[in-house]
Amino acid sequence: MAIRMIRQLGDEVLTKKCKEIKEITPRIQELVDDMLETMYEANGVGLAAPQVGILKRLVVIDVGEGPIVLINPRIIATKGEQTGDEGCLSLPGKAGVVTRPAYVKVEAWNDKMERFEMEGEALLARAFCHEIDHLDGHMYVEKVEGELHDVTYEEEEE
Ligand code: ZN
Repeated sequence: MAIRMIRQLGDEVLTKKCKEIKEITPRIQELVDDMLETMYEANGVGLAAPQVGILKRLVVIDVGEGPIVLINPRIIATKGEQTGDEGCLSLPGKAGVVTRPAYVKVEAWNDKMERFEMEGEALLARAFCHEIDHLDGHMYVEKVEGELHDVTYEEEEE
């Protein structure tokens, strides 16, 4: 496993639409492992493949309940609304207020290419939306209400 460089806002790789993963090759498995390690090292709760320069539809998330690997994820249901601070490892030290659904259900494939569905509320729902946006070349800053603000070191970033 290896730590990969996290691309920062302004890097054009973060504006591109990612391609579906068709099969789990050893390179994809290595990417999954590296992304998890990179996310934990950066104290993030989520990381999308384009953030490490790979234009594939792959996301890792851990909101404190263990690692989640989402391959080709898609939002299939949402409910309600939540408004709160959001940050991103591609824009360290900043956060902004974003409104997201309070509940999100995703379909995705795991690292054995088995389809599954997963529901999330609160931070997990927010992470699903934030990370899946990355796969279509979007950053949360496009959705921020008002201005970005600085965050202190202790705050978690997505
Ligand atoms: Zn992000």
